[in-house]
Amino acid sequence: MLTHFNLGDYRCVLLNVGCFDMSAGVLFANAPADVLSIALAKHALKPELIVFQTNPLFVDTGVHRVVIEPGGTDETGRLSAALAEAGIDPATIDTVIITHGHADHYSGCIGADGHPAFPDASHFIQRAEWDHWLAPDNPEPHHAEAFRRMLLPLHDSFTLLDGDGEIVPGLEAICMAGHSPGHMVVKIAGQAVHVGDVLLNVVYIDHPDWYAAFDVWPDQVVESRRRLLGLLAEEDLLAVTYHFPQPRIGRVTVTDGGWQWVPEEPSRPAV
Ligand SMILES: [Zn+2]
Repeated sequence: MLTHFNLGDYRCVLLNVGCFDMSAGVLFANAPADVLSIALAKHALKPELIVFQTNPLFVDTGVHRVVIEPGGTDETGRLSAALAEAGIDPATIDTVIITHGHADHYSGCIGADGHPAFPDASHFIQRAEWDHWLAPDNPEPHHAEAFRRMLLPLHDSFTLLDGDGEIVPGLEAICMAGHSPGHMVVKIAGQAVHVGDVLLNVVYIDHPDWYAAFDVWPDQVVESRRRLLGLLAEEDLLAVTYHFPQPRIGRVTVTDGGWQWVPEEPSRPAV
């Protein structure tokens, strides 16, 4: 599953490294049952089987070769296989960006041989996120253990970001905390936003005030989501998702008192 699209002069390829699932009760923890069934039916979703795709993004800015969200547990070789399918050599990647420290967003950073999957890359994450996962009292010990095991050995290749601003030219960090304390989204070429886990599922666009059982700060995730949806609609930015199904990219438009998702089918650009 490869989706090719261009953002101005930037060449983008949306990869896929598999999927997992969870129940609607976990994903929409504060949703009233009756409203939830209607919301799920609208998108033909099954309450016990909400599928999460995992979609790493490759961006070639002309100057930098970037992977955003290198998920895919590369002990299984999924990320390397997806990159190979797209004709991308991991050794040519110079920038790796991780929106937050849940393992499904970075588990491809270590290859099957135990070595860094992107040996020549600078890795970027927010400092608040780095500190959160290394804190002794982290509320998600399973993810904290994975973070220590996979990312701590790459410490020397990490640049810890302090808030909003340029990561490399053309890619901009915008902090949107809540899902985790140092979660960021990434604005690309002034035309698109990689939304990370601020939008876990399309239902959140219809119901931005719902939150997941695993959102660390529920009030903040709702605030961040409303800010993100407002930004996407106001600036007509393409939303690039990590967990949505095909076509995985789209736009957000304003409706009566809210927002709606408009999926976008990209035409394959001329190379
Ligand atoms: Zn997450």
